[in-house]
Amino acid sequence: MRDIRNKKNNDEGTGLSPDETRISSLSHEKPGSGENQQKLRVFTARLFLAGLVFGCIFINAGRIPGQSTDSSSVQGAAASEPYPQMSSIAPIGIRIGKYMNVPASAQGPAIDPAKGYRLQDLGSGLYMITDNIYQSMFLVYERGVVVIDAPPAYAARISQAIAEVSDKPITHIIYSHSHSDHIGGAKSLVEQRPVIVAHGETLRLLKRAADPNRPLPTVTFSDKYKLRVGNQVLELSYHGNAHEPGNIFIYAPAQRVLMVVDVVFPGWMPWRRFALAQDIPGYFEQVEKIRKMDWDTLIGGHVARTGTHADVDLQAEFNEDIKQAAKTALATTQPGVGLNPLDRTNPWAGFDNYIDRVAAQCVNALTAKWSNKLAAFDVYIWDQCYAMEQSLRIE
Ligand SMILES: [Zn+2]
Repeated sequence: MRDIRNKKNNDEGTGLSPDETRISSLSHEKPGSGENQQKLRVFTARLFLAGLVFGCIFINAGRIPGQSTDSSSVQGAAASEPYPQMSSIAPIGIRIGKYMNVPASAQGPAIDPAKGYRLQDLGSGLYMITDNIYQSMFLVYERGVVVIDAPPAYAARISQAIAEVSDKPITHIIYSHSHSDHIGGAKSLVEQRPVIVAHGETLRLLKRAADPNRPLPTVTFSDKYKLRVGNQVLELSYHGNAHEPGNIFIYAPAQRVLMVVDVVFPGWMPWRRFALAQDIPGYFEQVEKIRKMDWDTLIGGHVARTGTHADVDLQAEFNEDIKQAAKTALATTQPGVGLNPLDRTNPWAGFDNYIDRVAAQCVNALTAKWSNKLAAFDVYIWDQCYAMEQSLRIE
Protein backbone atom coordinates (compact mmCIF):
# COMPACT_ATOMS: atom_id res chain seq x y z
CA MET A 1 0.00 0.00 0.00
CA ARG A 2 1.17 3.51 -0.78
CA ASP A 3 1.93 6.17 1.78
CA ILE A 4 -0.45 6.58 4.68
CA ARG A 5 -2.08 9.81 3.76
CA ASN A 6 -4.08 10.58 6.82
CA LYS A 7 -1.45 12.43 8.75
CA LYS A 8 -3.20 11.99 12.07
CA ASN A 9 -2.82 8.25 11.61
CA ASN A 10 0.74 8.54 10.42
CA ASP A 11 3.78 8.20 12.66
CA GLU A 12 5.74 10.60 10.47
CA GLY A 13 2.86 13.03 10.39
CA THR A 14 2.51 13.32 14.17
CA GLY A 15 6.21 13.06 14.87
CA LEU A 16 5.39 10.29 17.35
CA SER A 17 7.08 6.93 17.54
CA PRO A 18 4.82 3.93 16.84
CA ASP A 19 4.57 3.33 20.59
CA GLU A 20 3.56 6.91 21.25
CA THR A 21 0.95 6.71 18.53
CA ARG A 22 -0.36 3.57 20.13
CA ILE A 23 -0.67 5.32 23.48
CA SER A 24 -2.53 8.19 21.93
CA SER A 25 -5.06 5.84 20.41
CA LEU A 26 -5.41 3.34 23.25
CA SER A 27 -7.27 5.30 25.88
CA HIS A 28 -8.56 2.06 27.40
CA GLU A 29 -5.03 0.86 28.23
CA LYS A 30 -4.36 0.43 31.92
CA PRO A 31 -2.63 3.53 33.26
CA GLY A 32 0.05 3.38 35.90
CA SER A 33 3.16 1.89 34.35
CA GLY A 34 6.05 4.34 34.69
CA GLU A 35 7.16 3.81 31.10
CA ASN A 36 3.71 4.53 29.77
CA GLN A 37 3.35 7.61 31.94
CA GLN A 38 6.66 8.92 30.62
CA LYS A 39 5.46 8.35 27.04
CA LEU A 40 2.16 9.97 27.83
CA ARG A 41 3.99 13.05 29.18
CA VAL A 42 6.06 13.27 25.96
CA PHE A 43 2.91 12.93 23.89
CA THR A 44 0.97 15.50 25.92
CA ALA A 45 3.85 17.97 25.68
CA ARG A 46 3.97 17.57 21.91
CA LEU A 47 0.22 17.88 21.60
CA PHE A 48 0.39 21.07 23.68
CA LEU A 49 3.11 22.47 21.40
CA ALA A 50 1.14 21.53 18.31
CA GLY A 51 -1.92 23.23 19.78
CA LEU A 52 0.11 26.33 20.58
CA VAL A 53 1.48 26.58 17.02
CA PHE A 54 -1.97 25.97 15.55
CA GLY A 55 -3.56 28.54 17.83
CA CYS A 56 -0.86 31.12 17.04
CA ILE A 57 -1.49 30.74 13.32
CA PHE A 58 -5.16 31.50 13.82
CA ILE A 59 -4.53 34.39 16.21
CA ASN A 60 -1.94 35.88 13.87
CA ALA A 61 -4.31 35.56 10.96
CA GLY A 62 -6.90 37.26 13.13
CA ARG A 63 -9.53 34.83 11.93
CA ILE A 64 -10.91 33.57 15.21
CA PRO A 65 -10.35 36.27 17.80
CA GLY A 66 -10.81 35.17 21.37
CA GLN A 67 -10.57 31.45 20.60
CA SER A 68 -8.57 29.18 22.85
CA THR A 69 -5.15 28.11 21.60
CA ASP A 70 -6.16 24.47 22.09
CA SER A 71 -6.89 23.10 18.60
CA SER A 72 -9.42 20.62 19.94
CA SER A 73 -11.73 23.46 20.95
CA VAL A 74 -11.56 25.43 17.70
CA GLN A 75 -15.04 25.20 16.23
CA GLY A 76 -15.09 23.69 12.76
CA ALA A 77 -11.45 22.58 13.00
CA ALA A 78 -10.34 18.98 12.58
CA ALA A 79 -10.40 16.89 15.74
CA SER A 80 -7.10 15.82 17.26
CA GLU A 81 -7.92 12.19 16.45
CA PRO A 82 -9.19 10.75 13.16
CA TYR A 83 -12.17 8.41 13.00
CA PRO A 84 -11.34 4.89 14.23
CA GLN A 85 -10.16 2.47 11.52
CA MET A 86 -9.44 5.37 9.19
CA SER A 87 -8.52 4.35 5.65
CA SER A 88 -4.96 4.71 4.38
CA ILE A 89 -6.43 6.32 1.25
CA ALA A 90 -6.61 10.07 1.83
CA PRO A 91 -10.14 11.43 2.16
CA ILE A 92 -11.42 14.25 -0.03
CA GLY A 93 -9.65 17.55 0.54
CA ILE A 94 -6.41 16.14 1.93
CA ARG A 95 -3.35 16.99 -0.13
CA ILE A 96 -1.05 14.05 -0.83
CA GLY A 97 2.51 13.70 -2.02
CA LYS A 98 2.09 11.07 -4.74
CA TYR A 99 -0.98 9.36 -6.15
CA MET A 100 -0.85 5.64 -6.93
CA ASN A 101 0.88 4.66 -10.15
CA VAL A 102 -1.31 4.10 -13.22
CA PRO A 103 -1.18 0.37 -14.07
CA ALA A 104 -0.17 -0.70 -17.58
CA SER A 105 -3.69 -2.07 -18.14
CA ALA A 106 -5.02 1.50 -18.13
CA GLN A 107 -2.56 2.93 -20.60
CA GLY A 108 -2.97 3.30 -24.36
CA PRO A 109 -0.82 4.17 -27.37
CA ALA A 110 1.15 7.41 -27.03
CA ILE A 111 0.08 10.72 -28.58
CA ASP A 112 2.38 12.44 -31.07
CA PRO A 113 2.95 15.75 -29.22
CA ALA A 114 3.37 17.62 -32.51
CA LYS A 115 -0.16 16.58 -33.56
CA GLY A 116 -1.85 16.61 -30.17
CA TYR A 117 -4.21 13.79 -31.09
CA ARG A 118 -4.22 10.19 -32.24
CA LEU A 119 -6.36 8.65 -34.95
CA GLN A 120 -7.41 5.03 -34.48
CA ASP A 121 -8.90 3.07 -37.37
CA LEU A 122 -11.97 1.19 -36.09
CA GLY A 123 -12.63 -0.41 -39.49
CA SER A 124 -14.82 0.24 -42.57
CA GLY A 125 -14.53 4.03 -42.51
CA LEU A 126 -15.01 4.53 -38.77
CA TYR A 127 -12.26 6.30 -36.77
CA MET A 128 -11.66 7.34 -33.19
CA ILE A 129 -9.91 10.64 -32.45
CA THR A 130 -8.37 10.96 -28.99
CA ASP A 131 -5.92 13.06 -27.02
CA ASN A 132 -5.77 10.13 -24.54
CA ILE A 133 -8.13 12.02 -22.21
CA TYR A 134 -11.14 12.57 -24.49
CA GLN A 135 -12.47 10.34 -27.29
CA SER A 136 -14.75 11.08 -30.22
CA MET A 137 -15.41 9.44 -33.60
CA PHE A 138 -16.09 10.15 -37.24
CA LEU A 139 -17.55 7.96 -39.98
CA VAL A 140 -16.63 8.38 -43.64
CA TYR A 141 -19.13 7.51 -46.38
CA GLU A 142 -19.28 8.09 -50.14
CA ARG A 143 -20.33 11.75 -50.06
CA GLY A 144 -19.34 13.01 -46.66
CA VAL A 145 -18.36 12.55 -43.04
CA VAL A 146 -20.44 12.09 -39.88
CA VAL A 147 -18.75 13.56 -36.80
CA ILE A 148 -19.72 12.10 -33.42
CA ASP A 149 -18.94 14.57 -30.60
CA ALA A 150 -16.50 17.47 -30.71
CA PRO A 151 -14.57 17.83 -27.46
CA PRO A 152 -13.17 21.37 -27.20
CA ALA A 153 -9.90 19.84 -25.97
CA TYR A 154 -9.00 19.06 -29.60
CA ALA A 155 -11.94 20.28 -31.71
CA ALA A 156 -9.62 22.63 -33.61
CA ARG A 157 -7.82 19.54 -34.93
CA ILE A 158 -10.85 17.46 -35.92
CA SER A 159 -10.79 18.76 -39.51
CA GLN A 160 -7.09 17.95 -39.72
CA ALA A 161 -7.74 14.44 -38.40
CA ILE A 162 -10.50 13.90 -40.98
CA ALA A 163 -8.22 15.22 -43.72
CA GLU A 164 -5.77 12.43 -42.93
CA VAL A 165 -8.22 9.93 -44.43
CA SER A 166 -10.88 11.85 -46.38
CA ASP A 167 -11.47 15.07 -48.34
CA LYS A 168 -15.27 14.84 -47.95
CA PRO A 169 -17.29 17.56 -46.15
CA ILE A 170 -18.92 17.16 -42.72
CA THR A 171 -22.60 16.48 -43.50
CA HIS A 172 -23.76 15.33 -40.05
CA ILE A 173 -22.83 15.80 -36.40
CA ILE A 174 -24.16 13.52 -33.66
CA TYR A 175 -24.16 14.66 -30.04
CA SER A 176 -23.73 11.84 -27.52
CA HIS A 177 -25.14 14.19 -24.85
CA SER A 178 -25.30 17.87 -23.98
CA HIS A 179 -22.16 18.31 -21.87
CA SER A 180 -19.83 21.01 -23.12
CA ASP A 181 -16.67 19.02 -22.51
CA HIS A 182 -17.83 16.57 -25.22
CA ILE A 183 -19.60 18.80 -27.76
CA GLY A 184 -18.40 22.32 -26.90
CA GLY A 185 -16.18 22.37 -30.00
CA ALA A 186 -19.10 21.81 -32.42
CA LYS A 187 -19.40 25.46 -33.46
CA SER A 188 -16.14 25.27 -35.42
CA LEU A 189 -17.55 22.37 -37.53
CA VAL A 190 -20.91 23.81 -38.66
CA GLU A 191 -19.80 26.14 -41.46
CA GLN A 192 -21.40 23.88 -44.07
CA ARG A 193 -24.60 23.58 -42.06
CA PRO A 194 -24.50 19.87 -41.26
CA VAL A 195 -27.53 18.02 -39.89
CA ILE A 196 -27.11 17.80 -36.11
CA VAL A 197 -28.72 14.72 -34.51
CA ALA A 198 -29.33 14.32 -30.79
CA HIS A 199 -31.85 13.08 -28.26
CA GLY A 200 -34.83 15.33 -27.46
CA GLU A 201 -33.59 15.83 -23.90
CA THR A 202 -30.27 17.06 -25.27
CA LEU A 203 -32.14 19.68 -27.31
CA ARG A 204 -34.00 20.78 -24.17
CA LEU A 205 -30.79 21.08 -22.15
CA LEU A 206 -28.96 22.90 -24.94
CA LYS A 207 -31.79 25.40 -25.32
CA ARG A 208 -31.51 26.11 -21.63
CA ALA A 209 -27.72 26.42 -21.79
CA ALA A 210 -27.95 28.86 -24.74
CA ASP A 211 -24.28 28.26 -25.45
CA PRO A 212 -23.14 29.50 -28.89
CA ASN A 213 -20.40 26.85 -28.85
CA ARG A 214 -23.05 24.10 -28.84
CA PRO A 215 -25.37 24.73 -31.82
CA LEU A 216 -28.87 23.28 -31.35
CA PRO A 217 -29.67 19.86 -32.85
CA THR A 218 -31.73 19.98 -36.06
CA VAL A 219 -33.03 16.39 -35.78
CA THR A 220 -34.08 14.79 -32.51
CA PHE A 221 -35.54 11.44 -31.47
CA SER A 222 -36.87 9.82 -28.31
CA ASP A 223 -36.21 6.03 -28.41
CA LYS A 224 -34.35 4.97 -31.54
CA TYR A 225 -32.92 6.61 -34.64
CA LYS A 226 -31.19 4.89 -37.54
CA LEU A 227 -28.89 7.17 -39.51
CA ARG A 228 -28.25 5.85 -43.03
CA VAL A 229 -25.65 7.72 -45.07
CA GLY A 230 -24.55 6.07 -48.32
CA ASN A 231 -23.77 2.49 -47.39
CA GLN A 232 -22.98 3.35 -43.76
CA VAL A 233 -25.34 2.93 -40.80
CA LEU A 234 -25.35 4.24 -37.22
CA GLU A 235 -27.99 3.05 -34.76
CA LEU A 236 -28.77 5.56 -32.03
CA SER A 237 -30.81 4.50 -29.00
CA TYR A 238 -31.86 5.93 -25.66
CA HIS A 239 -31.90 3.92 -22.45
CA GLY A 240 -33.07 6.50 -19.93
CA ASN A 241 -31.27 8.70 -17.45
CA ALA A 242 -27.98 7.58 -15.97
CA HIS A 243 -25.13 10.04 -16.61
CA GLU A 244 -27.59 12.74 -17.66
CA PRO A 245 -30.92 12.87 -19.51
CA GLY A 246 -30.41 12.49 -23.26
CA ASN A 247 -27.12 10.54 -23.14
CA ILE A 248 -27.43 8.01 -25.99
CA PHE A 249 -25.88 4.75 -27.17
CA ILE A 250 -24.31 4.98 -30.65
CA TYR A 251 -23.80 1.64 -32.38
CA ALA A 252 -22.01 1.03 -35.67
CA PRO A 253 -23.20 -2.47 -36.70
CA ALA A 254 -20.78 -3.02 -39.61
CA GLN A 255 -17.80 -2.10 -37.42
CA ARG A 256 -19.23 -3.69 -34.25
CA VAL A 257 -18.36 -0.52 -32.31
CA LEU A 258 -20.48 0.82 -29.45
CA MET A 259 -20.00 4.37 -28.16
CA VAL A 260 -21.47 5.30 -24.76
CA VAL A 261 -19.90 8.35 -23.18
CA ASP A 262 -19.18 8.93 -19.47
CA VAL A 263 -20.33 5.52 -18.20
CA VAL A 264 -17.42 3.04 -18.49
CA PHE A 265 -13.79 4.25 -18.45
CA PRO A 266 -11.70 1.30 -19.73
CA GLY A 267 -9.03 0.44 -17.17
CA TRP A 268 -9.97 3.33 -14.90
CA MET A 269 -12.20 4.27 -12.02
CA PRO A 270 -15.12 6.30 -13.30
CA TRP A 271 -14.74 10.04 -12.80
CA ARG A 272 -15.87 11.13 -9.35
CA ARG A 273 -19.34 10.10 -8.11
CA PHE A 274 -19.85 7.49 -10.85
CA ALA A 275 -18.94 10.10 -13.44
CA LEU A 276 -21.46 12.52 -11.92
CA ALA A 277 -24.27 10.11 -12.73
CA GLN A 278 -27.53 11.94 -12.21
CA ASP A 279 -29.29 8.62 -11.57
CA ILE A 280 -27.07 6.05 -9.90
CA PRO A 281 -29.45 3.05 -10.14
CA GLY A 282 -29.85 4.05 -13.81
CA TYR A 283 -26.07 4.18 -14.13
CA PHE A 284 -25.73 0.65 -12.70
CA GLU A 285 -28.41 -0.57 -15.13
CA GLN A 286 -26.64 0.99 -18.12
CA VAL A 287 -23.35 -0.72 -17.26
CA GLU A 288 -25.28 -4.03 -17.28
CA LYS A 289 -26.94 -3.11 -20.57
CA ILE A 290 -23.58 -2.33 -22.21
CA ARG A 291 -22.26 -5.59 -20.83
CA LYS A 292 -25.02 -7.67 -22.39
CA MET A 293 -24.95 -5.98 -25.79
CA ASP A 294 -23.13 -7.51 -28.74
CA TRP A 295 -20.10 -5.44 -29.81
CA ASP A 296 -16.33 -5.77 -30.16
CA THR A 297 -15.04 -2.27 -29.33
CA LEU A 298 -16.33 0.23 -26.78
CA ILE A 299 -15.68 3.96 -27.08
CA GLY A 300 -16.22 5.41 -23.61
CA GLY A 301 -15.53 9.05 -24.47
CA HIS A 302 -12.54 9.23 -22.13
CA VAL A 303 -9.11 7.80 -21.30
CA ALA A 304 -6.31 6.48 -23.47
CA ARG A 305 -7.71 3.34 -25.02
CA THR A 306 -10.85 1.69 -26.34
CA GLY A 307 -12.74 -0.80 -24.20
CA THR A 308 -13.42 -4.52 -24.28
CA HIS A 309 -16.06 -6.71 -22.70
CA ALA A 310 -13.51 -7.53 -19.98
CA ASP A 311 -13.41 -3.81 -19.07
CA VAL A 312 -17.19 -3.65 -18.74
CA ASP A 313 -17.27 -6.90 -16.75
CA LEU A 314 -14.72 -5.39 -14.37
CA GLN A 315 -16.77 -2.21 -13.96
CA ALA A 316 -19.90 -4.28 -13.29
CA GLU A 317 -18.02 -6.32 -10.68
CA PHE A 318 -16.78 -3.13 -9.01
CA ASN A 319 -20.33 -1.78 -9.00
CA GLU A 320 -21.58 -4.89 -7.19
CA ASP A 321 -18.72 -4.77 -4.69
CA ILE A 322 -19.16 -1.10 -3.81
CA LYS A 323 -22.93 -1.51 -3.49
CA GLN A 324 -22.40 -4.38 -1.05
CA ALA A 325 -19.66 -2.54 0.86
CA ALA A 326 -21.78 0.60 1.28
CA LYS A 327 -24.86 -1.43 2.21
CA THR A 328 -22.92 -3.28 4.92
CA ALA A 329 -21.36 -0.05 6.21
CA LEU A 330 -24.76 1.66 6.43
CA ALA A 331 -26.18 -1.29 8.34
CA THR A 332 -23.32 -1.72 10.81
CA THR A 333 -22.28 1.87 11.60
CA GLN A 334 -23.73 3.32 14.80
CA PRO A 335 -24.95 6.90 14.44
CA GLY A 336 -23.61 9.45 16.92
CA VAL A 337 -20.51 7.58 18.07
CA GLY A 338 -17.70 10.05 18.78
CA LEU A 339 -19.89 13.08 18.14
CA ASN A 340 -19.22 16.02 20.44
CA PRO A 341 -22.25 16.20 22.81
CA LEU A 342 -22.45 19.93 22.04
CA ASP A 343 -23.28 18.97 18.43
CA ARG A 344 -26.26 16.76 19.36
CA THR A 345 -28.72 19.49 18.38
CA ASN A 346 -27.13 19.81 14.92
CA PRO A 347 -28.61 17.01 12.77
CA TRP A 348 -26.45 17.89 9.77
CA ALA A 349 -23.36 17.41 11.94
CA GLY A 350 -24.74 14.09 13.20
CA PHE A 351 -25.20 12.86 9.64
CA ASP A 352 -21.78 14.11 8.59
CA ASN A 353 -20.14 12.19 11.41
CA TYR A 354 -22.16 9.04 10.58
CA ILE A 355 -21.66 9.22 6.81
CA ASP A 356 -17.93 9.88 7.13
CA ARG A 357 -17.61 6.65 9.11
CA VAL A 358 -19.81 4.77 6.62
CA ALA A 359 -17.62 6.00 3.76
CA ALA A 360 -14.42 5.08 5.60
CA GLN A 361 -15.70 1.53 6.13
CA CYS A 362 -16.72 1.33 2.46
CA VAL A 363 -13.27 2.50 1.31
CA ASN A 364 -11.57 0.00 3.63
CA ALA A 365 -13.71 -2.87 2.35
CA LEU A 366 -12.67 -2.21 -1.27
CA THR A 367 -9.03 -1.17 -1.03
CA ALA A 368 -7.32 -4.57 -0.89
CA LYS A 369 -9.12 -6.01 -3.92
CA TRP A 370 -9.47 -2.93 -6.13
CA SER A 371 -6.61 -0.52 -5.52
CA ASN A 372 -4.46 -2.14 -8.22
CA LYS A 373 -7.24 -3.19 -10.59
CA LEU A 374 -8.61 0.17 -11.66
CA ALA A 375 -6.37 3.17 -12.28
CA ALA A 376 -6.92 6.14 -9.95
CA PHE A 377 -8.71 4.03 -7.35
CA ASP A 378 -7.13 6.26 -4.71
CA VAL A 379 -8.20 9.46 -6.48
CA TYR A 380 -11.93 8.78 -6.50
CA ILE A 381 -12.80 5.92 -4.16
CA TRP A 382 -14.00 8.28 -1.42
CA ASP A 383 -16.21 10.10 -3.91
CA GLN A 384 -17.65 6.79 -5.15
CA CYS A 385 -18.37 5.57 -1.60
CA TYR A 386 -20.07 8.86 -0.67
CA ALA A 387 -22.16 8.68 -3.86
CA MET A 388 -23.03 5.01 -3.24
CA GLU A 389 -24.17 5.43 0.35
CA GLN A 390 -26.21 8.51 -0.62
CA SER A 391 -27.90 6.60 -3.43
CA LEU A 392 -28.65 3.57 -1.24
CA ARG A 393 -30.23 5.75 1.43
CA ILE A 394 -32.59 7.69 -0.81
CA GLU A 395 -32.86 6.33 -4.36
ZN1 LIG B 1 -20.89 14.15 -19.63
